[in-house]
Amino acid sequence: MRSLIFVAPGQLRIDEVDAPVIVDATDALVRPLAATTCDLDHHVIRGITPMSAAGPFPIGHECVGTVVEVGPECTDVKVGDVVGVAWHIACGTCTQCRLGHTARCLLYGDAQYGLPLNGSWGGTFSELIRVPFADFNLAPLPKGIDPVHLASIGDNLALGWESVMPTIAGIDDPEIAVFGGTGSIGLYCVDTAVHCAGARTVYYDDDPTRMAVAEKLGAEVFDINGKREKNFHLAIDASADPARLRKALLSVMPEGYVNSVGIYFEDVPVPMLSLYLRGVNFHNGKGHARPNMTPTLEAVAAGTLHPELITSGIYGWDEMPDVLTSSEPGHKPIFVLD
Ligand SMILES: [Zn+2]
Ligand SMILES: [Zn+2]
Repeated sequence: MRSLIFVAPGQLRIDEVDAPVIVDATDALVRPLAATTCDLDHHVIRGITPMSAAGPFPIGHECVGTVVEVGPECTDVKVGDVVGVAWHIACGTCTQCRLGHTARCLLYGDAQYGLPLNGSWGGTFSELIRVPFADFNLAPLPKGIDPVHLASIGDNLALGWESVMPTIAGIDDPEIAVFGGTGSIGLYCVDTAVHCAGARTVYYDDDPTRMAVAEKLGAEVFDINGKREKNFHLAIDASADPARLRKALLSVMPEGYVNSVGIYFEDVPVPMLSLYLRGVNFHNGKGHARPNMTPTLEAVAAGTLHPELITSGIYGWDEMPDVLTSSEPGHKPIFVLD
């Protein structure tokens, strides 16, 4: 099969590699219909992460696809099902998985698609993917919805839900700030905040394209370098930029919440005294995709969420190396496999 390989910063190629096979009775094989980049992939390709020195490896961990083979112990998943694939591998039954912390699975640890962490599980920019514990890790897509714009459901799209909804539960008339900077996660958060949480939502960024999308999704949009409000119930740092993280930390009301989905590979200064004086609840960590995929898909099926507005372009499978190494790959390019 063909698989997109990250070779080195700025270098991607499509290689012919061995196709995966069913290993365990609970495995399934999925052929992608559409795959897309996690915001992190752009940073890997640009060479600004520690993983950027670990090539060559198959890249990509977001896709939707069709189940083409199942092991004898799969009971829910059937051949022909159209599914979203969680970005990380989880058993579904260990202590952490049962708490909903599926990215902390005690059996699989850091195992995921598309990055060389805890074994090689291949990448979702490949023609076939092996999914362990398929009944758990695959989410059936709603019927009648074009799966292409759901390519991100196994990671960034579900992270939009996860970063907003559990935190604002029980808050009347929530006000939410989203600090953008990476490609798509901030926009998925805006969509969830406006349309699922019914929140007054403010989006801060300096990228005109992303700002236009946020406005279309219903946010009030402001230049991140201008004046900012300081009384939000929840601020989301989707920037991976220490200066913007600081702004997010300083933008919430006393006892407010800051959820950071940015990945910081080095220590960053944090305004601890200000956090102490106001009382700030801060969370930073990997997204636990699987439990958040189902409510996200339900919101898409109900017409509440609008992932199609966040897609920046739809391309053919063979265009992956050129588009993803170009100077303007777009904030959410989706690649369709014929
Ligand atoms: Zn990711
Ligand atoms: Zn587990």
